[in-house]
Amino acid sequence: FKEFVNDGKVPEDNFVVNKEQRIDPEADLKDGQIFLRLLYLSVDPYMRTRMRKMESYYLGSGFEPGKPLQGGCVAQVVASKAPGFAEGEVVSGMLPWSSHQIVEADAQKGLHKVEPSLLGKVPLSYFVGVLGMPGMTAWSGLKKIAEPIKEGEVALVSAAAGAVGLIVGQLLKHVYGCKVIGSAGSNDKVALLRELGFDAAFNYHTTPKEQALKEAAPDGIDIYWENVGGPVLETVIEMCRPHARIVACGMISQYDLPDEEKYGVKNLFHVVTKRIKMQGMVVADYYAELGKEFATTMGKYVTEGKVKAVEHVTEGIENAGKAWVEMMVGGNTGKAVVKVAAE
Ligand code: NDP
Repeated sequence: FKEFVNDGKVPEDNFVVNKEQRIDPEADLKDGQIFLRLLYLSVDPYMRTRMRKMESYYLGSGFEPGKPLQGGCVAQVVASKAPGFAEGEVVSGMLPWSSHQIVEADAQKGLHKVEPSLLGKVPLSYFVGVLGMPGMTAWSGLKKIAEPIKEGEVALVSAAAGAVGLIVGQLLKHVYGCKVIGSAGSNDKVALLRELGFDAAFNYHTTPKEQALKEAAPDGIDIYWENVGGPVLETVIEMCRPHARIVACGMISQYDLPDEEKYGVKNLFHVVTKRIKMQGMVVADYYAELGKEFATTMGKYVTEGKVKAVEHVTEGIENAGKAWVEMMVGGNTGKAVVKVAAE
């Protein structure tokens, strides 16, 4: 990671590939440590908030210029001098973007073995996607903020063909029995949403959102999963029914903007008059209480085919910066992951 970028898009050349460093596990591995090789790394929108000085739902510090980026990863233990970790085991956690690395095997730092009952049943990349942080975001956000959800309620999901959005939509449709509408940035994404069971979907670049929503939800919206912010939120508030719930998960349309250009929503008074519940969420808050239940429940949904995982895989750690930049402008359909090495 080269330097902080406060305003505008982060350019691809802000990510530098360093091929210099070498690790000698024989000599370098100390007691309590494990030597890992990365298999997958996850590129996520919250990383933008670590590349500039801004409020974040990431509960740690910003990236350090000159140091590797860090994010959700799946890795395999190559050698271990730590109790509880054996060669060949698969772990996930927040790790530096380095193809090989030595880390402290301290569970407190968030490194944990992937759910053993799912090994061999799903690709390992799912542990940074549908069975990892984005899946947990979708499942726990609905549970903690949108519930109680009645069958037949009308729900809208923005950035619906992305990592979180696709899971939210499928859960709302196939688990809760809602009528689900998705907005996304291309016709191919819209087609995918329909294929996965969304009742309606529209391309927000080509269809005016007011018109699309009036057609798809003539009686209004009960649940809005907010991923994008800006004018979309304003339109949705206008269309919410009394007692609607808005799960404020993210506002990606605002992350690159200087503070003075951020969108000011003008109709917030409707939140009062319509008794709308709008609540922000930070997925990290829910792991202690719900992490285990999530692993079992979502594992079942995925292996039974109730929730389908869609991935956008980029090959090679040297392309991780490019993959992140592309994800931020909608280049991904489903969860954006980088394959670093073969499983
Ligand atoms: P996605 O896989 O959805 O990728 C980001 C997507 O955002 C792009 O594919 C693009 O899709 C869309 N997008 C980019 N710019 C804009 C824009 N200006 N207007 C509308 N859409 C845009 O990422 P995630 O699923 O990982 O994240 C989705 C949201 O959830 C983000 O806001 C993120 O910050 C938030 N999040 C919050 C968490 C929390 O704990 N609060 C945890 C995880 C994610 P398209 O082609 O449709 O434009």
